[in-house]
Amino acid sequence: MPSPRRLIAGNWKMNGLRSDATTRAAALRDKAGAARMALPDIVLCPPFTLLTTVAQTIGSTLALGAQDCHAADKGAHTGDIAAPMLAEIGCRYVIVGHSERRAAHGENDPQVRAKAEAAHRAGLVAIICVGESANERKAGRHLTVVAGQLDGSLPAGVNAANTVIAYEPVWAIGTGQTPMPSDIAEMHAYVRKRLSDALPKDDEGERIRLLYGGSANSGNAPELVATPGVDGLLVGGASLDAEAFWKMVLAAV
Ligand code: PEP
Repeated sequence: MPSPRRLIAGNWKMNGLRSDATTRAAALRDKAGAARMALPDIVLCPPFTLLTTVAQTIGSTLALGAQDCHAADKGAHTGDIAAPMLAEIGCRYVIVGHSERRAAHGENDPQVRAKAEAAHRAGLVAIICVGESANERKAGRHLTVVAGQLDGSLPAGVNAANTVIAYEPVWAIGTGQTPMPSDIAEMHAYVRKRLSDALPKDDEGERIRLLYGGSANSGNAPELVATPGVDGLLVGGASLDAEAFWKMVLAAV
């Protein structure tokens, strides 16, 4: 089975005003446009307010993603954004189940699954995040925890074209700590096996891309993307620096 095409996604989180977003997106667009090699898929996930600005800046060279969506397609949900709204302004991806949303907004697996279903209905690729806490890893429960998150949050109809899984250990996000490569490889092999067992038809489970996320940066990216089972990266803090993010893209070429 050939390896899936790699994907590098930048989660800008709640950072940026129009001027710096435009500068960053334009820099990445120009680098991608000037590249003389086949690049991985590159996805920028700015805050909602900057989606249109970034869409207009990047054109079709890079892909646009959002950081969340509501499970409903429309309705009385003050402050929320629906997946069809994201699709309409040019998003192709949406992150769901990020640990910061699970922690700060109490999102649970059924809600994440409903959001992924909404993303699929709107024709978006759902980047579904899973990952254990520090205590869960210390207790040796990391595999069980991630298995539970996968079972609870993967919607029916999941396939390699509409879903990406991001393994993001909560304790590695924004902390400067990363798991040992062998620990990442263990988790990715475990997730891959579960997906392959659950989705044997047309090898869908083999082809779903598995990203690693958590304190990835331009220094550790080469080792992370070379780790067995890693098909790309979901990058938070380091994606705010166009030069650093571009180095990470190049590490995945
Ligand atoms: C993230 O928030 O998805 C993430 C991986 O953050 P960071 O790279 O900053 O750890």
